[in-house]
Amino acid sequence: MDRRAFRNGHLWGVEVTELVRLTDITKVYQGGMTGALNGVSMAVEEGEFTAVMGPSGSGKSTLLNLIAGLDQPTTGSVMVGGSDLGKMGEAPLARFRRDSIGFVFQFFHLLPNLTVLENVLIPAQLKGTAGAEARGRDLLEQLRIAEVADRYPANLSGGQQQRVAIARALINQPSLLLADEPTGALDTRSGDQVMELLMQLHASGQTILLVTHDAKLATRHAARVISVMDGRIVDDARLESPERAPSEVIRVRSEEAL
Ligand code: ADP
Repeated sequence: MDRRAFRNGHLWGVEVTELVRLTDITKVYQGGMTGALNGVSMAVEEGEFTAVMGPSGSGKSTLLNLIAGLDQPTTGSVMVGGSDLGKMGEAPLARFRRDSIGFVFQFFHLLPNLTVLENVLIPAQLKGTAGAEARGRDLLEQLRIAEVADRYPANLSGGQQQRVAIARALINQPSLLLADEPTGALDTRSGDQVMELLMQLHASGQTILLVTHDAKLATRHAARVISVMDGRIVDDARLESPERAPSEVIRVRSEEAL
């Protein structure tokens, strides 16, 4: 990653480094009557825990997929880590996805015929990283699922499966962790545990971009909440303390926050 290409700035007097910059993004799917994204510009600084919040169909997943290099915008540019994804060929883009992005999905997407540890190690094997198994076991330890390393996903609870998916997303030490409704398929307790883990990862320096339709979840855990509606950003609030009650968060629409 070319750190020299980053724009440096200040946030609350602290030196910050830009990791993601979207400029005038539109996305019209083939056959789509209206645009999924209609002129989105935003930046994410290194180390931020940002939630993109909005109702179903507002364009959140589309946004995340563009940042992950899984899809391309109709117009506009996506810069991640100083690189313009639109100017990358297929092979560099695949390397970028493998090395710089960790992706956590709502429904885990674990491979059923591989054990937990084998699932976690897939991205490292694709990269050819030495010492991956030790790091994989460390991650399972950190995420408090070391005891299930040799089990198969079907024998785990949803919360455990999501923690395996998080370990897999982190195995290559990505600069950006993307999470698309990571608690959407979990009960409240497991969902809270997953959000706690994300907060701990953020505290240890991980940049996280989370997509959710759940205003409570966004305002309780993320340090910044970007609200989207009909493919447009309608609000962008940095919260000084992520532990604040949603009702205390100014600029987040009250009917969504409660
Ligand atoms: P969200 O994640 O907020 O629910 P999405 O980004 O999934 O929103 O979808 C935004 C809009 O784009 C919706 O109207 C959805 O139907 C449409 N859309 C999403 N993916 C596709 C696709 N692959 N093909 C056509 N339309 C799509």
